[in-house]
Amino acid sequence: MSVLLTNIGELVTNDPAHGGSGPAGGGTMPGGRETVADGIGLVPDAAVVVEDGRIAWTGPAASAPAADDVVDLEGRCVLPGFVDSHSHTVFAGDRAAEFAARMTGEPYTGGGIATTVAATRAASEDELRARGRALVREMLAQGTTTVEIKSGYGQDVATEARTLRIARELTPETTYLGAHTVPAEYAADRAGYVDLVTGPMLAACAPHARWVDVFCEPAAPTAFDEDEARAVLRAGLRAGLGARVHGNQLSAGPGVQLAVEVGAASVDHCTYLTDADVAALADSWSPARPLGSAPGASAPGAGYGTVATLLPAVEFSTRSSYPDARRLLAAGVPVALATDCNPGSGYSSSMPFVVALALREMRMSPAEAVWSATAGGALALRRDDVGHLGVGARADLTVLDAPSHTYLAYRPGVPLVHQVWKDGARP
Ligand SMILES: [Zn+2]
Repeated sequence: MSVLLTNIGELVTNDPAHGGSGPAGGGTMPGGRETVADGIGLVPDAAVVVEDGRIAWTGPAASAPAADDVVDLEGRCVLPGFVDSHSHTVFAGDRAAEFAARMTGEPYTGGGIATTVAATRAASEDELRARGRALVREMLAQGTTTVEIKSGYGQDVATEARTLRIARELTPETTYLGAHTVPAEYAADRAGYVDLVTGPMLAACAPHARWVDVFCEPAAPTAFDEDEARAVLRAGLRAGLGARVHGNQLSAGPGVQLAVEVGAASVDHCTYLTDADVAALADSWSPARPLGSAPGASAPGAGYGTVATLLPAVEFSTRSSYPDARRLLAAGVPVALATDCNPGSGYSSSMPFVVALALREMRMSPAEAVWSATAGGALALRRDDVGHLGVGARADLTVLDAPSHTYLAYRPGVPLVHQVWKDGARP
């Protein structure tokens, strides 16, 4: 069964066959491919053929092959489904009061997480599952077809494992973040908590996780310093997980260098970077390797460098300074955009909102932001089957009620997602 989606006013493919190897002016993308004007593989007056859940053909509508079924998209823009490579969407409770307090003058220190940990430990499995499902549905309605979900609100063996079991029902991109913060009961025994995270908790969680993550931020008293974070990441790697890092959110710390040292797929936040941090990220991609040259999705490790993932909805919701995206792009560092959807520092599930912030607050171009929210997210998850619409990619598509991708930021806060396709069907 094949479906022809036609009368697409503007198609974003991120496909090198259509000049989609990364936005021009953003430095050399992995593989050092030649870039063209837009770098996101735009095709005007386009069509897409979907077959067996995959992209079978893309190009000008006038030369499209026949298909079993035809869908007329009436001039709308189509882009790859968003890849939200950083979220914390399985939790219980609510921190609206903390947010209101912060907005009226209290500084954000990250201490409010204990509220969510207590609520998550107390919640039933059904309650957690229902909340997670609802958030993933909310994301899908806003064009997100791939989402990564972290644990980290359990901080005990049973609740971390339960969180990841539920997350695994929602996505294959699950991340063990037992080392989110040091829970109150271990405040006087940090080493004991690291032993738990790298020992019994890891053993219980690894079967449900693809990634290990750590909040490496020595400036925050409940986060982890460099040695603690290294121990957590190395233990996760030994257990067969790929590495990711929360780093350099509140100050210039060791997170970025550590991420590069262990070959992490991504270091997330990157708000405070030294020149050496930027250079380390850029160097991690050298020698440059083409996207998709790495082994399959089951082997997160070889062949890729470390992506800088920016989470501007957090800076928005904590009224903090935004990361310097232009500095990273100028250095040739691949940048991903994600929501960091979580109940404390930023409770938005909306990738269109993140794209709008990336333009308004981080001076990314429309093409750069859309690439980072799709192909960039895929790179941060070391996936070559999503984030682009090349032949063979998963048929994950977002159809906008707009003529071009620029409208995502041009019309902020407006529900522009007309329909979403996942694996070649309307979910
Ligand atoms: Zn996070």
